[in-house]
Amino acid sequence: MVDTSLEFLRFRVMGIMSQMESLNGKDLQPLASIPLGRLRRNATRLHGVCRFNKGVDKRDVNLSPTDVREVALHPESLKSEWLQYAEFLMFHEFLHALGHGGHDSEFRHLEAQWPDKEAKQMGVNFAVHLRKHNAKFTWKCPTCDWQTERSVRSAGRYLCRSCKVKLVDFVLTAN
Ligand SMILES: [Zn+2]
Ligand SMILES: [Zn+2]
Repeated sequence: MVDTSLEFLRFRVMGIMSQMESLNGKDLQPLASIPLGRLRRNATRLHGVCRFNKGVDKRDVNLSPTDVREVALHPESLKSEWLQYAEFLMFHEFLHALGHGGHDSEFRHLEAQWPDKEAKQMGVNFAVHLRKHNAKFTWKCPTCDWQTERSVRSAGRYLCRSCKVKLVDFVLTAN
């Protein structure tokens, strides 16, 4: 089944990449054949991933898109308000697919050439958004008004920073 949101994103990202001077001379066409997927909805740490085929060494200097099993993005990033960030995420994973297995200085240099400078900064807000989105509990300080939303119970393990009092768990209803 074709995931139209992801395919549309790929079309846009490849279009932008083809205009980037830093990628001049790179054969981008194989990126069009990489299987695209979505991460689990409740993933909190991972925003995007480039998964290589079994047995592929990520440090291999000859890595190419044909070594890629899947590029997957967080489904939440495909919502309209995060699409700008999703483009950047896909670009980031495509750079891995083009032969940069790790986040070395060359990778960071290429990554920094993405024309939408705002996009990368959205990662911080997206992480906060995911945490709220996946929250099942509110940890509240019984003394002051401070509270935070989390996916696990604090279970008496955490203190309020200002009051040094144990935080109390409240169960959130479905969001
Ligand atoms: Zn990466
Ligand atoms: Zn407090």
